[in-house]
Amino acid sequence: MKKLSVIVPCYNEELVIAESYRRTRKVLSAIPNPTEIIYINDGSKDNTRVLLNEIASSDPEVKVIHFSRNFGHQPAVTAGINNCDADLALILDADMQDPPELIPAIMALQEEKEANVVYCVRKSREGDGWFKRLSAKLFYRFMNAMSEVQFPVDTGDFRLIDRKVMDQFNSLKEKGKYIRGLISWIGFKQVPFYYEREARVAGETKYPLRKMLRFASTALIYFSKKPLKLVMGLGFTAVLVGLLLTTWITLGKLYGFSNAESGWSSIVTIIVFFGGVQLITIGVLGQYIGTLFDEIKSRPEYIIDEKENFKND
Ligand code: UDP
Ligand code: MG
Repeated sequence: MKKLSVIVPCYNEELVIAESYRRTRKVLSAIPNPTEIIYINDGSKDNTRVLLNEIASSDPEVKVIHFSRNFGHQPAVTAGINNCDADLALILDADMQDPPELIPAIMALQEEKEANVVYCVRKSREGDGWFKRLSAKLFYRFMNAMSEVQFPVDTGDFRLIDRKVMDQFNSLKEKGKYIRGLISWIGFKQVPFYYEREARVAGETKYPLRKMLRFASTALIYFSKKPLKLVMGLGFTAVLVGLLLTTWITLGKLYGFSNAESGWSSIVTIIVFFGGVQLITIGVLGQYIGTLFDEIKSRPEYIIDEKENFKND
């Protein structure tokens, strides 16, 4: 029988932990496989730590990893996968937007199709606000337009992965991780599972715009070199415009249809425009260089403070 590990990142989730644990526990107790839950406390400032330790002390099948500070959702999921020794891992949000009640059906699909990955696709996301829905919809399509690999659209990290995929994931050296993209990039047999995304059971989103933008920029930079090509295209266009203007002015002088010397505003417009093109290009380059710098420093993706219920800890 395959052992299942449910990986749950938690950041300031004191309002949902109890309900989240109750529902997940109920589902896991009803399936015949050996199971465990790995909670990753991503440096919560509220009571999450205490609540998770209470659960771990009463349930030996609950493991907890406490980070030294808030490292982010993707590092938290990464830590879960890195510390998982089960045959299957399911990544689940603490807020129950992705219902744990679907676990048996997802596992059945994995077994039936002999899949290495079952990725869950959101048929609808009624629980999210219009901004989240619109930005997510645009983001997944934009990523596919920009990226060298194609990803299934409207899927989050809610997915079941097997040992083969976990081992490949653990051997990846890059520190900046866009997990849903990487798992899709790893390949093997991947099948979709369609579901309705629900609303958060309590509390607020831990993904403010700032974090969403950082997430999107990691995804883009790690999976695409197109922005570099695009700014190069912008450069070529600028050169072309410059050449056409020069030709026009020269011919204008020769044939007398241009009054070029009186054009203060046209000169200023052109300087500002090309200045802008250059700054954007440097900015895009800078993003890639900054990312290279981060990778070269090779700092760990997360720092663990304490672990509960892991053997040998
Ligand atoms: N999360 C985390 N670290 C963070 C932000 C979020 O571990 O810095 C967790 C959070 O506790 C939740 C999951 O990631 O379990 C998804 O976050 P959230 O539900 O707030 O995002 P949304 O569903 O609004 O995109
Ligand atoms: Mg959520």
